[in-house]
Amino acid sequence: MTTLKAVRGTRDLLPPETALWNRIEATACAVFTRYNFGEIRTPVFEDTALFARGVGEETDIVSKEMYTWEDRARAQSEKPQSLTLRPENTAGVVRAYIEHKLGETGQLQKSYYIGPQFRRERPQKGRYRQFSQIGAEVIGPPSAGSESPLRDAEVLEMLATLLDELGITGWTLEINSVGSSADRARYNEVLREALIPIAPKMCVDCQRRAVTNPLRVLDCKVPEDQPIIDTLPKIVDSLDYASKTHFAAVLAALDAAGVPYTRNHRLVRGLDYYTRTTFEFTHGGLGAQNSLLGGGRYDGLSEAIGGPKAPGIGFAMGEDRLVLTLQALNQGSAQPRVDAFVAPLGDAKDEAALMRINAAALALARELRRAGLSIELGDGSFRLKKSFETADKVARRIVILGEDELQSGILTVKDFSSGTQTKVPRAELATHLSQPAAK
Ligand code: ATP
Ligand code: MG
Repeated sequence: MTTLKAVRGTRDLLPPETALWNRIEATACAVFTRYNFGEIRTPVFEDTALFARGVGEETDIVSKEMYTWEDRARAQSEKPQSLTLRPENTAGVVRAYIEHKLGETGQLQKSYYIGPQFRRERPQKGRYRQFSQIGAEVIGPPSAGSESPLRDAEVLEMLATLLDELGITGWTLEINSVGSSADRARYNEVLREALIPIAPKMCVDCQRRAVTNPLRVLDCKVPEDQPIIDTLPKIVDSLDYASKTHFAAVLAALDAAGVPYTRNHRLVRGLDYYTRTTFEFTHGGLGAQNSLLGGGRYDGLSEAIGGPKAPGIGFAMGEDRLVLTLQALNQGSAQPRVDAFVAPLGDAKDEAALMRINAAALALARELRRAGLSIELGDGSFRLKKSFETADKVARRIVILGEDELQSGILTVKDFSSGTQTKVPRAELATHLSQPAAK
């Protein structure tokens, strides 16, 4: 029989690495809670049309990366339906906002999510087919202040705080404004004009983009094209007064809060409902996949999927890339040792005695665990040497429980870091074990 393996682009996360994942998630929840965000959990699959409209048919995600299938009807009353594993979570959050009429509260909805996303990409380091995103969205009616540049600045300041608290040093915030859809249409024409004389010197992709979608030229990664792209007009010069003022206000608030940023004139999003602020946090430790997170404003998204006017701003961070970055910064987790290993000492040949000592060991382990200690439990059939060897790999101390200890209520405890062996009365055992290991 062929052995079955995890599907290409998916992985098992094992301890001790999962401890790092848990720490990242706990830190994110704690920070989001301080900024008054609440958790939202949307389904892992949705109607395909949601992503076609909410992410955009033109994007790489929708045009080539989605896991889509035709879901069979199970009854006469059902219709077959095209479903898709979510490639991102913003569309689901906005769908939920519309479906539950959250705009009618008149308040800003501030929600965060943590969960798996699916994209059929070419797997490589930092790029998987199932990966996890941690994201947050601020959405609401304009009367709730959802369009205010203060929302943008607050989200960015929150991200700076989160990355700092996670211990991710050396991040860079790149920021730009893509203006309104009218601004962008204007800029597209400016670019088209500017590209006419120079496009023939560029890569074939850019030659095509220069005609079909000039904005995408800014995404080109071909080294020879870079100096040419640097000479192109900048989108900031095509912004109207309102967009310029909005962007200036975002930057002023970031300056006041002391959040450092770099202007990146090439950071654009190609979709009509992405508006104004766009940003990315990058980290050098990631190599080619250097983007930790991306986000921006999407004032037209709700309307694009049939909802009311509900401007918003949000971001999605790649949790897999946070883990890689922390590991590169040597903040990965080593397997922590438990407080103690309880080693029942039995006689493998005497079944009744073995049963009794194992049962007594479980009772002792229960006592200690209920006192808040982390305990690994051995087995009475182990020889003493094997118990010691096993314990020394996973625990800070070993507690020996043989017939004598059971009768006397005095246990033998050995501390592996100091090598000292002590006798401890059972009533004092939990207190003894909770003290830091002697040096
Ligand atoms: P990239 O340029 O790396 O493809 P993207 O523009 O597709 O990123 P977004 O859709 O903005 O990324 O997603 C936000 C974040 O999610 C990214 O910055 C990245 O950290 C993470 N991410 C995206 N795709 C993957 C993937 N296939 N595997 C792991 N993380 C991913
Ligand atoms: Mg991508």
